[in-house]
Amino acid sequence: MPTDVSPEPTTDTVADAGSGGRRAALIVNPIKATTADVEGAVRRISAEDGWEEPLVIETTAEDPGHGQAREALAAGVDLVIAAGGDGTVRCVAEELAGTGTMMALVPLGTGNLLARNLDIAVDDPDAAVESAFRGTERTIDVVHVTVDRAQDAHVFLVMAGIGYDAAIMSDTRDDLKDKVGWLAYVDAGIRNLPGRPSRTTISVNGGKPFERRLRSVMGGNCGKIMGGLEIFPGARIDDGLMDLMTVAPKGKLGWLAVVGKLVARGKGKSKDPSLEYFQCRTAEITLREPLEVQLDGDPLGRATHMAFEVKPDSLRLRMPLGYKDPAVVSEPLP
Ligand SMILES: [Mg+2]
Repeated sequence: MPTDVSPEPTTDTVADAGSGGRRAALIVNPIKATTADVEGAVRRISAEDGWEEPLVIETTAEDPGHGQAREALAAGVDLVIAAGGDGTVRCVAEELAGTGTMMALVPLGTGNLLARNLDIAVDDPDAAVESAFRGTERTIDVVHVTVDRAQDAHVFLVMAGIGYDAAIMSDTRDDLKDKVGWLAYVDAGIRNLPGRPSRTTISVNGGKPFERRLRSVMGGNCGKIMGGLEIFPGARIDDGLMDLMTVAPKGKLGWLAVVGKLVARGKGKSKDPSLEYFQCRTAEITLREPLEVQLDGDPLGRATHMAFEVKPDSLRLRMPLGYKDPAVVSEPLP
């Protein structure tokens, strides 16, 4: 919320508040080349807008964002800027979701999946920093995921999956993924085809479980993946629903049929059982044998069970200046 300047300031609060009293935290992946520029921009705009000196914390290989986000929350900052790739964004969001503390993105990765789904520029870090301070606000859903009935839930913002999609994400050569995105994903899928579909039990919204022989189950909080391809047609990031897709291609030509359907951006439920869509608030996936799990492209190892629960509107996000969307709930800050 904007801080109003009281018309009748008391000496105590003015002294405590310092110059405006607001403070940002920058959580930044130091591997990216533009790190110093981003930190400089955050310091400059903090000063220009009368915010306190920002808290700047770098991510590490051991802690890609969780501890840093908790430190920022403990410091009581008003805004947490996540500058990095999809992994940084996901880890920071995992801590901020449900807290009411505002998050902003400065995309520095190659995928930048959430930014692309929200039409946030991925090639202009300076503009992203400015929007972090001066943009509008919206809320988005996050999806809680419990893997193998663990105590702690993870979150994802764009998509999660178990099975072939995750195996492919871990397998795909990074150089290729950077250059061609989705095509590399498909290429890896076809190359890795040997193996057999897994017997999978699925329950949506607590309903009666049903069984399929599948290669992959994917949950989507929004629709677009690499290359701008929309794999969950019509999925919205603020409808309180997760889109679930099951993939059961039959043989090499089956994979091509799935790819063809995705490229054609077919809408609604398919009559072909190779691809089924469900919309749900919760879902539970149980496999006979462990398969690879991924959340927003981060591999989490193998598991046999995943439970999903949508947490509607649980993350506050700062959006670009001039962003036009009915979901935007605030005017730009003064
Ligand atoms: Mg949704």
